[in-house]
Amino acid sequence: MDYQATTPMDPRVIARMREGKESGQGFGNPHSTNHGYGRSAAEDVATSRNLIATLIGADDDEIVFTSGATEANNLAVIGTCHEMSGRNEIVVSAIEHKSVLAAARHLESRGFVVRKASVDAAGRIKMDHLQHLISDRTRLVSVMATNNEIGVEQDVATIATLCRNAGSLLHVDAAQALGTTANDVYDWAADFISLSSHKVYGPKGIGALFVSRDARRHIRSIMFGGDQEDGLRPGTLAPALCAGFGEACNILLSERSEEIVRLANLRERFLTRLRERIPACEINGSLTMRHPGNLNVRFPGLEAEQMLAMCEGRIAAATGSACTSGIPEPSHVLIALGRTSREAHESIRFSFGRFTTTEDIDATVEGLSAATALLHG
Ligand code: PMP
Repeated sequence: MDYQATTPMDPRVIARMREGKESGQGFGNPHSTNHGYGRSAAEDVATSRNLIATLIGADDDEIVFTSGATEANNLAVIGTCHEMSGRNEIVVSAIEHKSVLAAARHLESRGFVVRKASVDAAGRIKMDHLQHLISDRTRLVSVMATNNEIGVEQDVATIATLCRNAGSLLHVDAAQALGTTANDVYDWAADFISLSSHKVYGPKGIGALFVSRDARRHIRSIMFGGDQEDGLRPGTLAPALCAGFGEACNILLSERSEEIVRLANLRERFLTRLRERIPACEINGSLTMRHPGNLNVRFPGLEAEQMLAMCEGRIAAATGSACTSGIPEPSHVLIALGRTSREAHESIRFSFGRFTTTEDIDATVEGLSAATALLHG
């Protein structure tokens, strides 16, 4: 019940990664193309890049490998704000991932102005507020397509239009969207898109930034080193990780639309049973514009941490609170929705995916129902 934190690797991904290693060619440096070992690794990387590009409707040379979505977000936000100019403002939403918010905060210390668009009670960005914030001073707008805590999906196409009209760049954090929406780069019309492999049944430690050809001149590397990845991301690529991410995308290409329907059905079952057993529970965020495998539930009067502790060993879910230096803070996402700190602490994120069964869903509801009964005494 914590697939939005990470997903288990698909066995087909593992098999594909092993293939490269066992062929004896897999250890080559993909940037050493003077010999067969290097060329073989380079071919593996090229095939994987093509699979990722195909899934999102991009060209191969628009994919820049990174270590994950955190690095992709940093590259997009900081890499586009490399110098002060007439456009020194960045617009983000209040519910972005910390890798965007912290990167924006870093830019503030360099003199950039960061503006935050608020969201409504359903977790959707308020378009009138966003429109008010975007101007001819805006360099970059950064929004996530699908939220990692409440699963709420944003209207990226409309945001893209606002950006175009103001002449600003658009970055979309699609780490949570890749496996659960059928959108591609044309639907999103974004200049930059962050992706993460471990959210889509691929290995951890790899992701990518889509850099549209038109926007390429606006972004610079944030690290120093070699010229790999068109000079945007120095360092030797890991062919096995690239191959695993590529295969994960290849599987999504043929199975994603069915998977979205299956997950939506599982969620329907979860919600119906949950409401039967615990009628007081409330859902955080929109139910219609939502990741099909996410339910963020508030159990009024109950401590989420305590609930999860009681379910330890049977249910693995997340409180959605970030812990800073051991001090649990209420989720900035739930607070932005208008929840109080106490309400945020009563909320649990359940997220499920490819290997979740109806039995898992039913067992979760049973476990929660038993924990609720005990806690209510
Ligand atoms: N953005 C979002 C929306 C995420 O959910 C995550 C993962 N929690 C990230 C960025 C960071 O991804 P990664 O783990 O690949 O660095």
